[in-house]
Amino acid sequence: MTRKPVVGVGRYTSPDATVSAIRRGVMDMIGAARPSIADPFLPRKIEEGRLDDIRECIGCNICVSGEVIGAPMRCTQNPTMGEEWRCGWHPESIPARRSKESFLVVGAGPAGLEAARALGQRGARVILAEARDALGGRVADEYRLPGIAAWARVRDWRVGQIDKMRNVEVFKARRMAAADVLGFGAARVVIATGSRWRSDGFGRTNRTAIPGTDRPNVHTPHDIMADVLPADPVVIFDDDHYYMGGVLAEALRVAGRQVTLVTPAALASIWTEATLEQWRIQKRLLELGVDVIASHNLIAVNDGAVELACQFTERRRTLPAAGIVMVTSRLPDDALYEDLVADDRALADAGIADVSRVGDCLAPGTIAAAVHAGHRFARELTLALGDAVPFAVESIVPRILTKRRAPMERRTA
Ligand code: SF4
Repeated sequence: MTRKPVVGVGRYTSPDATVSAIRRGVMDMIGAARPSIADPFLPRKIEEGRLDDIRECIGCNICVSGEVIGAPMRCTQNPTMGEEWRCGWHPESIPARRSKESFLVVGAGPAGLEAARALGQRGARVILAEARDALGGRVADEYRLPGIAAWARVRDWRVGQIDKMRNVEVFKARRMAAADVLGFGAARVVIATGSRWRSDGFGRTNRTAIPGTDRPNVHTPHDIMADVLPADPVVIFDDDHYYMGGVLAEALRVAGRQVTLVTPAALASIWTEATLEQWRIQKRLLELGVDVIASHNLIAVNDGAVELACQFTERRRTLPAAGIVMVTSRLPDDALYEDLVADDRALADAGIADVSRVGDCLAPGTIAAAVHAGHRFARELTLALGDAVPFAVESIVPRILTKRRAPMERRTA
């Protein structure tokens, strides 16, 4: 059709798929923006045949969301992205630690895996303990939901890297109590035990529990991911507004349930406007036959029904519901952390210098935030913030005033 070079994009992350598209003549050149954000050393790793070391983009578009919401840019897979200049974080290297201190990381979700991996990269002796028999935490559950299978790469890349490290030991199927942690003999303890979804409806819109949510037919996303499916018809109350409400609606509809998604927002999964996915999500839900009731709060769970109230008029309506799924907010799973820090003397006797918590266990958030927190811990070894600005600040002085190049100022803690 043309003799001109054809250049395309499409989140090509696999070298095989990339080469195949070129060899088959589909494209002459492939642009790889997100794959290069997730792994700036992608071309070099291909060149050196280090394909296992490539940190593949998962397609989550958290990078784009920073621009849309006016927040610093982040990448779920590459926690150094955006911190190269202001924190001096190199995507591939971390200064080795001289200290011989050992670390115990409890919890192998996104934060714990990244903390253990990055500490291991620094040469520290690390024990990673996971309560379940599979690594990955929330990612190990969520990647099985519709459309987000690639999110398993958050776990897979980190597990692959840890497998190569002789200084990182992994214990699975071992739920740690405070006494176990004290007996481990590690100098520093990192708690990354994640979070759990609330079932009582507390969240952005409702600052107290919704009446009737203590009924056995009220579920959380954890139930659905554990294959405990609600009775038909199902009402999903989404006051979280990111992807979870939408993907659960799709999963339950595909499982044959009649699904209504109720949200106080004006659109289904409205926060995904920031990741450029909202239109696709709502289109897909409507095409699958999911009813979307927007701008309504869920105010009570009754026998076989839920009561809704319009966000604008407060006009009420009743909706049949045999099963209800609450996607509202999460609570940190921090009982182990609280047990440990409650007894200073026991910590001192055990030789534990420091207990930290990272990721959802400290503040439930995105997977990107959890990975960043785990990485930051390994870099800085403490999350305590002092008064000093802990990153470099760029000062832009207009040339018209200075008549010379604007200086860059680097202020670090
Ligand atoms: S934020 Fe997500 S989509 Fe963007 S580059 Fe990173 S992994 Fe890929």
